[in-house]
Amino acid sequence: MKIRVGHLYPDYLNIYADRGNIVVFERRAALRGHGLEVDAVSVGDEVRPGAHDLLYVGGGQDREQALIAPDLAAKGTAIREAVAGGAALLAVCGGYQLLGRGYLDRHGADLPGVGLFPHETVAGERRMIGDVLLECELEPGEQRTLAGFENHAGRTKLDPGAEPLGRVVAGFGNDGESGYEGARVGRAIGTYLHGPLLPRNPWLADWLLAQALAHATRGEPPELAPLPDRLETEAHRVSAQRARARGGRF
Ligand code: GLN
Repeated sequence: MKIRVGHLYPDYLNIYADRGNIVVFERRAALRGHGLEVDAVSVGDEVRPGAHDLLYVGGGQDREQALIAPDLAAKGTAIREAVAGGAALLAVCGGYQLLGRGYLDRHGADLPGVGLFPHETVAGERRMIGDVLLECELEPGEQRTLAGFENHAGRTKLDPGAEPLGRVVAGFGNDGESGYEGARVGRAIGTYLHGPLLPRNPWLADWLLAQALAHATRGEPPELAPLPDRLETEAHRVSAQRARARGGRF
């Protein structure tokens, strides 16, 4: 199969090499015999619901977010429609914030959001920086951990009843106090975990690829053949250990 990926604002939102997550999708798809076709979707470009099996938005500083926020908000209806139609989506940090209802940055600028995730974000005084470990259960009964790194001023408040991505074991998470991190709506995942999120959490890459394949085939998410993942498992272990040792303290 060919998996069609829409990479939103690769030229603006790519902090800590968030682009590396696309490389992981490409490689893990190829090892299962699938190709990835990646379209850049930036300022002035259209999102056509149904045209992509997977949408990806990376992170950025307040400055980059302010530059693209009005354009992204204008794509809101199309993005919500794409996800309602079964497309998978991964949004990281700055992208995660702007896929909610909005972000009030630390200069008082009120950036409009897409309204996909049921949350709002307000910048706080101190940045929440460090290693994070989460417990997730995206499929009932399948418990997994996600290890990563966060660096954000924004405090994200989920609406009551909204589904988080996971429970914080170590680290700050959405707001440093709720005990939750990220958000999930259908096949869309938002998270503060940055940069090498997928290289050290290959199960999440495979979950998203399977959801994207389900969209492409209009069927069920397929079982993907397991890969050895020796380095990935080791990277996850080291990262999880660092989070347990010192995650989530100012
Ligand atoms: N500007 C946002 C914040 O600091 C997002 C930062 C980022 O993507 N690292 O909350």
